[in-house]
Amino acid sequence: MDIACPNCGEQEALRGTPRAEVILLYCEKCTHKWKRDLSASCAKCGGVDMQQVPLAILEKGRGTQLSVVGTRPINLCSDCDAETLRVYHANRPNPLLPDDIPTAGL
Ligand SMILES: [Zn+2]
Ligand SMILES: [Zn+2]
Repeated sequence: MDIACPNCGEQEALRGTPRAEVILLYCEKCTHKWKRDLSASCAKCGGVDMQQVPLAILEKGRGTQLSVVGTRPINLCSDCDAETLRVYHANRPNPLLPDDIPTAGL
């Protein structure tokens, strides 16, 4: 993961404090402080080229039929999740189904 101080470009002397979805970072070189929003960057490659897509929330109805009861926004990486994004864009305006995301754990 490539993190650099947005103020001076320092990459080594950085300290981070994870707070929920945001990491508070501190540069020991120039004392600059900033926040890194985890929801807007890829956990795998650290890239910030993210796309927010609606993921379907499924509920089991009678029998084995699954019905979409709503959606929640998730962030996908243009690099790591390229295939998932391709599937989503091919099926628009339908939301992405959890089945399409191997890492969704649903
Ligand atoms: Zn700095
Ligand atoms: Zn990525």
